[in-house]
Amino acid sequence: MRLYSTKDPNELITLREAVLQGMPLDNGLYMPLEFPRLPLQFFLDLSGMTLPEISFEIGKSLLGDDVPETEIRRMVESAINFDAPLVKIAEKTYVLELFHGPTLAFKDFGARFMSHLMAYFIKDSDRKLNILVATSGDTGSAVANGFFRIPGINVVVLYPSGKVSRIQEKQIATLGENIIAIEVTGTFDDCQQLVKQALIDNDVNHKRMLTSANSINISRLIPQTFYYFYGYAQLPNPEKKKVVFSVPSGNLGNLTAGLMAKRMGLPIYKFIAATNVNDVVPCYLERGVFKSKTSVQTISNAMDVGNPSNFARIQNLYDYSWPRLCGDLMGASFNDQQTREAIREVYEKHKYILDPHGAVGYLGLKFLFEELGDVDQGIFLETAHPAKFPEVVEAEINTSIPIPESLRKSLNKKVSSIKMENQFSVLKEFLLSDSRFN
Ligand SMILES: *Cc1c(COP(=O)(O)O)cnc(C)c1O
Repeated sequence: MRLYSTKDPNELITLREAVLQGMPLDNGLYMPLEFPRLPLQFFLDLSGMTLPEISFEIGKSLLGDDVPETEIRRMVESAINFDAPLVKIAEKTYVLELFHGPTLAFKDFGARFMSHLMAYFIKDSDRKLNILVATSGDTGSAVANGFFRIPGINVVVLYPSGKVSRIQEKQIATLGENIIAIEVTGTFDDCQQLVKQALIDNDVNHKRMLTSANSINISRLIPQTFYYFYGYAQLPNPEKKKVVFSVPSGNLGNLTAGLMAKRMGLPIYKFIAATNVNDVVPCYLERGVFKSKTSVQTISNAMDVGNPSNFARIQNLYDYSWPRLCGDLMGASFNDQQTREAIREVYEKHKYILDPHGAVGYLGLKFLFEELGDVDQGIFLETAHPAKFPEVVEAEINTSIPIPESLRKSLNKKVSSIKMENQFSVLKEFLLSDSRFN
């Protein structure tokens, strides 16, 4: 795969460079130069294939020039080692459950696959690769978990003190070994600022090999294309007509992966970007003018994004044409009250427990049914397990949510993190002096 920066289509780089660098220096985002069209036979066989089988075929067509087939198979087997079942909750309404990974959120797909790809690309290097990641919760836990005990790689997770949930802190700061958790006296934005400063600091970069693990990294999007194919594959054959996907969206990594799947030939009729009140994308789709906003806090907090980083990729995929994008994508936003009501309604009517993010996806699908009179079946993505948000969900359904085994294990462990002032000089000194980062 060859890639270019959205800011400079002329200079091509390899997948290895894009994965290890994360983001081009010109502030654009890396995009694949071309998308493989999967062969007709693949689509004929799709309905009977498992998630690892599908992942291997797509992985091969995307990464085949850069990674040997045996390695791709090994990566798929160790990274995509949990299911993503499609569950029917009502007539022609399906939920694709993406929360069966170790940290109970869909970010496990991207983080786990990225860790194996990075490990492969640095296997002959004599230096450690150090991944810095700022988190408001879910990204940090998925990345920490995905890279735990991956040889040659350290992860430094910066999270804002007192601003991640107890469960999330357990998932980030109880692993130890190559996972270093830093509790920053400040906000998420402060953490992000510290990471950015480190990534461009000359002294640190001279001495250490650094990269980031946010969804700006193309290697997180690649595995996310797999489950769109798998979700489609699981639909009963008579319902594989005018298939629509509702994607609860924040930084738009998930949605970008869906649009990439379509570009590779998956016959999806429409997507909807379902957001909470942080509605810059629905506003753009309505007016054709993009305006970022300051984000506001909601109960679907992983989608509290005012300037979504993957928007540039989506525009690039559609040649910066608003009408063309509107042909494939709709948008809608929902407030916390509507989200809570959706959780209650789906539980009362269908006995299915949604988390706040999936609830926004469910509302998006219903909106799409209403807007498009000719579509009455579809899939919405459930991006996190409801047990990650017990306060919000239990209040609506009046019953307690059983805690999955993987979560229970981390709840019993002791948090061990380094407390740090929000000061770049302190982080810099730490990165330069600790020999683990050599
Ligand atoms: C990160 C996240 C989202 C948003 O996904 P994007 O790819 O950033 O749009 C939605 N739901 C959950 C649970 C998340 O953790």
